[in-house]
Amino acid sequence: MRLSRYFLPVLKENPAEAQIVSHRLMLRAGLIRQASAGIYSWLPLGFKVLRRLEEIVHEEQQRAGHMPMLMPTIQSAELWKESGRYEDYGQEMLRITDRHKRDMLYGPTNEELITDIFRNAVNSYKDLPLTLYHIQWKFRDEIRPRFGVMRGREFLMKDGYNFDLTMEDALHAYNRHMVTYLRTYERMGLKAIPMRADGGPIGGDYTHEFLVLAETGESEVFYDSAVTDLTLGDRDIDFDDVDQCRAIMEEFTTPYARTDETHDEALFGAIPEERRRTARGIEVGQIFYFGTKYSEPMGATVVTENAERVPVHMGSHGIGVSRLVGALIEANHDEKGIIWPEGVAPFPVGIVNLKQGDAGTDDVCESLYGQLIKAGLDPLYDDRNERAGSKFATMDLIGCPWRITVGPRGIKNGVVEVTSRRTGESEEMSAEAAIAKLT
Ligand code: ATP
Ligand code: MG
Ligand code: MG
Ligand code: MG
Repeated sequence: MRLSRYFLPVLKENPAEAQIVSHRLMLRAGLIRQASAGIYSWLPLGFKVLRRLEEIVHEEQQRAGHMPMLMPTIQSAELWKESGRYEDYGQEMLRITDRHKRDMLYGPTNEELITDIFRNAVNSYKDLPLTLYHIQWKFRDEIRPRFGVMRGREFLMKDGYNFDLTMEDALHAYNRHMVTYLRTYERMGLKAIPMRADGGPIGGDYTHEFLVLAETGESEVFYDSAVTDLTLGDRDIDFDDVDQCRAIMEEFTTPYARTDETHDEALFGAIPEERRRTARGIEVGQIFYFGTKYSEPMGATVVTENAERVPVHMGSHGIGVSRLVGALIEANHDEKGIIWPEGVAPFPVGIVNLKQGDAGTDDVCESLYGQLIKAGLDPLYDDRNERAGSKFATMDLIGCPWRITVGPRGIKNGVVEVTSRRTGESEEMSAEAAIAKLT
């Protein structure tokens, strides 16, 4: 992409309405614009990151055998009356009446709809296990929408639902989701710690929230610092292997880590003092096992081997995809702007031409640009007629992991400069070496 043709409306000043750094930077770097309270438009740069996160979520879900689908944003109230949640959900639910005076709602989550799809299509234990998921916009009329996309009213969520014959099978689905989530966040360059949580309106005894530590997080968390040393890395995982998935779940949930809702002072106090941590965290996902909470009232049953009809065991598993963009920035920025982890950067590399219009620098930039595209990278070439200082400031603000700077002086010596956004370190090398380094 050539910056001269890109839509990147950056702001010079800090927007007064933004209280936290990720919100400020998302507005300043032209990722989002507010449409109304808690509702945002995603501009090209922000949309690119959002799509990248969706891709990672899709890949990791499908790796585990979970099937993508798409349910609508608008749902009929009927199903929610069946489950009993139409009344329970309260004012967070946006209720809509259509022209025929039918009660509709903008889905805050999808347990009812997916259970309805399941009960109309599946009848036999032979069709289990089954895990379906989608990535779709949700609406919750939050009392205090704030912090930009972190607590929006309209937000993008991945929500997945498992259907199993027994509790044991459903707990395997739970552990499998735990593993896919650990992989997903690690690929995004985030440390998200699974913490024992509270069921809330979705209900259920087995539930973990995934929290990213950040001062601006809305949850108070308590943990054993040993948990932050754990990483999944690129272990070979067989998602059908019940023992392996359980072992990984146990590995990551044995050190004490809880949100304030389930915090236990006595257990916490038993951790050696030097490892006890109290901090704040951002909830970026949550997994639940809730058994037959929906299948029973809604009649989602299957016939077993012994010709008995039983309600299926279910769980639901969410990732806050749009919130993650904010969480990523909270965890990766400096005073100049965003520092995207390599796995999620909208552009992996930016090219800065220090003397636009100079035949020498233009040639080298064009050639670098073309070769990086050929190598499968997606470079952002700042080909505008701007001062060097302003070009650097833009690149630093939008946070491409690498910058290649091309100037007349370097060209005389046959070199360009390659700079890491994270460390700030620069290295001079030939254009060929720069391409080899980045590809
Ligand atoms: P919170 O405690 O922050 O209100 P939640 O527990 O109500 O979140 P869940 O029902 O667990 O949310 O939904 C799954 C995920 O969706 C959450 O872990 C979070 O990452 C994301 N999410 C929930 N509410 C919002 C929101 N208002 N804006 C952005 N993301 C959200
Ligand atoms: Mg909530
Ligand atoms: Mg919560
Ligand atoms: Mg939650």
